[in-house]
Amino acid sequence: MKLRRLTSILAAILAGAILLLCGCADVGEHSETFYAMDTVMTITAYGKNAEAGTSAAREEILEKDKLWSVTNENSTLYALNHGASAADADTLALISYALDISEKTGGALDPTVYPILTAWGFTTDENRVPDDEELSRLLENVGYERVTVSENEVRLPEGMMLDLGAVAKGRASDLAAELLRENGVSSAIINLGGNVYALGKKPDGSDWRIGIKDPESEKSVGVLSLSDRAVVTSGSYERCFTAPDGTVYGHIIDPKTGYPVNNELLSATMIAADGTLCDALSTAMFVMGSEAAESYWRENGGFDMILITKNHELILTEGVEKNFALLEKNYTVSILKKAIQ
Ligand code: AMP
Ligand code: MG
Repeated sequence: MKLRRLTSILAAILAGAILLLCGCADVGEHSETFYAMDTVMTITAYGKNAEAGTSAAREEILEKDKLWSVTNENSTLYALNHGASAADADTLALISYALDISEKTGGALDPTVYPILTAWGFTTDENRVPDDEELSRLLENVGYERVTVSENEVRLPEGMMLDLGAVAKGRASDLAAELLRENGVSSAIINLGGNVYALGKKPDGSDWRIGIKDPESEKSVGVLSLSDRAVVTSGSYERCFTAPDGTVYGHIIDPKTGYPVNNELLSATMIAADGTLCDALSTAMFVMGSEAAESYWRENGGFDMILITKNHELILTEGVEKNFALLEKNYTVSILKKAIQ
């Protein structure tokens, strides 16, 4: 009992500190920073309902983190990975969505890659390089097509495990945006550890300006001006380690080889109204590489993208050409157009 009280007092102090840091007492702006889904998240909303909307969105994300954390022993995902099969509708829907994109991307996205991630130490931050034999053994338990989702349960064959790290933050951003809107907020920026959702326009009526990170420095290569769009980037640089032989290994795995992706891309950024789609595709397009990503975009559409290559090339789809301003002049820009010229 005493411990619980102490915890709630500490929580209250922390909440006060957050409010002070934001300096958002009466200007119709409310910002909250919190830790969830393994990252620092900030939601900033404007207008008279800003505080109610932000709090509702934060609570929702914390709830979903409890369901979708792969390491929290009390989460729904942990239970599924350890023999359970029943899950709530939101979890079933997210798994089903991830499996659908897995199929569409020929397995570039594959939520069953978890045993491989564990072998590389990405789930514990105790990184190591597994040998080929270990990887081929573990790859026997990777394969999205063997997972089935029905109305109220997930069937996961023995030895297989799911990880929703490639899609959870995107879905969280969509849910946060929905709750903000339901609470009457029409202007907000949701930043879930770089997974951004720009809701409406800025309070002055102009577009939000979102920097696209230079994977090789702390700067932005350019800025996107837009509204009501998610902007989600995947890249090895976000989480990686250097092996004793100097090789750098990133946290995005090619499910076909079991090795961290090492192609010509430094990052893949997706832009669309649907944050879950952006999150799923940013991971998948990063795995697929620029040529396959271009074909995927041509065949499927419904999103824009910015690919950054190791040759300092920025490949933009035509839908965001007018929204993008280049800042780093050492990058060349090429535009992908649907109609063949
Ligand atoms: P993201 O930052 O959205 O690209 O997601 C990367 C995270 O998704 C990693 O940290 C892993 O948890 C997981 N992951 C890595 N590779 C894959 C993959 N090929 N398919 C699905 N999830 C993956
Ligand atoms: Mg992703």
